[in-house]
Amino acid sequence: MEIVIEKLNVIYHPGTPFAKQALTDINLRISSGSFVALMGATGSGKSTLIQTMAGLIKPTSGRIWIGDQEMTGGSKQTAPIRRAVGIAFQYPEHQLFEETVAKDIAFGPRLQGLTEEQVVMRVEEAMRWVGLSPSLKDRSPFALSGGQMRRVAIAGILAMAPQVLILDEPTAGLDPRGQREMLEMIELLHRERGLTVILVTHQMEEAARYGEQLVILSEGRIALSGTPKEVFREAERLSQLRLDLPPITKLIARLNQQLEPPLPLTIFTVEE
Ligand code: ADP
Repeated sequence: MEIVIEKLNVIYHPGTPFAKQALTDINLRISSGSFVALMGATGSGKSTLIQTMAGLIKPTSGRIWIGDQEMTGGSKQTAPIRRAVGIAFQYPEHQLFEETVAKDIAFGPRLQGLTEEQVVMRVEEAMRWVGLSPSLKDRSPFALSGGQMRRVAIAGILAMAPQVLILDEPTAGLDPRGQREMLEMIELLHRERGLTVILVTHQMEEAARYGEQLVILSEGRIALSGTPKEVFREAERLSQLRLDLPPITKLIARLNQQLEPPLPLTIFTVEE
């Protein structure tokens, strides 16, 4: 599903002394089935943006389209469209609560009015997608490793059959192998199942390796957006201009730092 965001503004506590503009004039187009990496310093507006896209925060102004339906947040008419967007918050395993893995994954689809048989199928399918062995279905989720628990939590979101999957730092706190496996799993969901993926990450390497489109937020605005190649080319140009914009220059310094050896940089080779 294509996502189109037009002139989006989000102000927390508007009209009070605590008013805080978290997003300013965001215009963004995410094509159907693409993999977007969303980056930006803490406080730049990433969580506000993904929650607004998931219909959990109502924009102060502006519009969001998911496919051909407008998402305005909150109202009953947007329920089907909100269902199309699955969101995994940071450390989603903290929200597990059922006594077995299968029951936990079934929680969301059960609320969707499916038959018991359909729910069981959704659970089995979701477990396959996240690479959890069927033998784990009657285990307590709390007896699993951290990485497996996170897979259970993500399976619970997939079992609701979203078309857009938003993940807020899904590799946080995992060891390097767990991180790699998690990203490969997400990449597979994107490639094989055609899910539109929006990955919030602080790691440039993750963003560059998996993102087809990078979006970098700075102080509630889109600072840079494009393919990894376009963004890095632009980042370099901006850093050479030595703009006196602290948050952006800091971000770009970080981009450039991370551009050094650790990346297999074929994607950054700019053929002029
Ligand atoms: P990020 O996810 O990039 O860290 P956020 O979207 O959480 O950024 O925050 C963007 C800005 O909005 C920050 O200045 C933050 O302090 C502010 N903010 C976030 N949530 C709230 C809230 N509930 N009330 C008031 N201000 C908020």
